[in-house]
Amino acid sequence: MKKKVVFIILGVFLVLILGFLFYVVFPTKFELKKGNITVNYKSEYKEPGYKIERNGKDYTNKIRVSGKVNTKKIGTYNIKYQVKIDGINYVKVRKVTVRDKEKPVITLKGSKKTDVCPNTEYKEEGFKAKDNYDGNLSKKVKVNKSKDKIVYIVKDSSGNETKTTRYLKYRDKTPPVITLNEGENVSLTLGEEYKEKGAKSIDNCDGDLSKEIDISGSVDSSKAGTYELIYKTIDKAKNESKIVRKVNIFEYSETDGIPGTIYLTFDDGPNQGTTNVILDILKEEKVPATFFVTNNGPDDLIKREHDEGHTVALHTSTHNYSIVYASDDSFYQDLKGVQDRVKRITGETSTIIRFPGGSSNTVSRKYSPGIMSRLTKSTLEKGFKYYDWNLSSGDAGGTTEASGVYNNVIRGLKKERANMILMHDIKPYTRDALRNIIKFGKENGYKFEKITMDTYMVTQNVNN
Ligand SMILES: [Zn+2]
Repeated sequence: MKKKVVFIILGVFLVLILGFLFYVVFPTKFELKKGNITVNYKSEYKEPGYKIERNGKDYTNKIRVSGKVNTKKIGTYNIKYQVKIDGINYVKVRKVTVRDKEKPVITLKGSKKTDVCPNTEYKEEGFKAKDNYDGNLSKKVKVNKSKDKIVYIVKDSSGNETKTTRYLKYRDKTPPVITLNEGENVSLTLGEEYKEKGAKSIDNCDGDLSKEIDISGSVDSSKAGTYELIYKTIDKAKNESKIVRKVNIFEYSETDGIPGTIYLTFDDGPNQGTTNVILDILKEEKVPATFFVTNNGPDDLIKREHDEGHTVALHTSTHNYSIVYASDDSFYQDLKGVQDRVKRITGETSTIIRFPGGSSNTVSRKYSPGIMSRLTKSTLEKGFKYYDWNLSSGDAGGTTEASGVYNNVIRGLKKERANMILMHDIKPYTRDALRNIIKFGKENGYKFEKITMDTYMVTQNVNN
């Protein structure tokens, strides 16, 4: 019995000595840099590093690393590091926790500092909450309302919290908005009475204040000049708005026609693809126009022009200068061709004409010298009226872009005259410029008219 005890004591002693030799005489250093770590969801996991040394010798490159971290999935992952040195296994495990560390983001519609109309309640303008992990959290936002602020709080599933505040001030610093019916510019002919066209005033807090608009200033229709009418409104918070309307009284002049008018005139049509769209726009904008037609294009577009209240006028059957201006007879024969067509479609005999190339053209000289001098007289004697233009859109060659057509027209417009605008309804860029031209005209107080037999003849100088 005694012997057994001695052996056990000796055995334990031996183990201790061996252990001492391994751990003190041949020390082992095995370390994982940073130990257990937490990484952000969807970030890149990078090995923080490891090292093993035994008895002063580096065995790091013998370490086998196993296990993977999927940062796209929240959870805890084990990375195992093991190495066998002199028959002894060394093992360490690193715990890597993937967690959502990012806070949700709250975005407020409207301002963070909001003015609220006095004696009213703030109407929520809306908010959104988004989280990198949970996605849309808008429905989980808690809204704490108090008199002067609203606090929005949201937590994502990982417990990250975001708080945003909207501050409220009960005051009205916004003046009413006045808009003048029929624009800020009105043109009248001397003697024509100015009739108040009215205005609207809308306030953000007080609503419709149109009835409280104060109009000052006056117009003397018997004296040419520019008159200013001032429109004013004040809201309950004493914010004042003011806008001025200019009323221009022009003397009617034989050479200028009715001031402030626009005659949209379209030559060379009709043409499917352009004329029909132009008709749509004119209809929507409730604006009349004049079409100087040819023998081209479908009948139904001429019918539409007529039925929708525009003037269907005559340009030419052929638009071939060598035929049209070959002789006076040839001219009238060509004109009769298109006149007959219009009569057949509309039931009306048109006597409003525009010469191909205009009355000032020189191309006709080649075919018949002096023909324009003769035709400008004989057409009138036969009961026609011919119309040239005093404003070219440039769409016959000067420009091939809608912006060019638009700019040519608005730069050429003059308040003190009738603006007879030459355009071609066969051109896509003219079609595309029309809406903005009309808008500009309306915003600047022009009146749109169509040519009738009473319309003042805008003519150019005859050169042949
Ligand atoms: Zn033409």
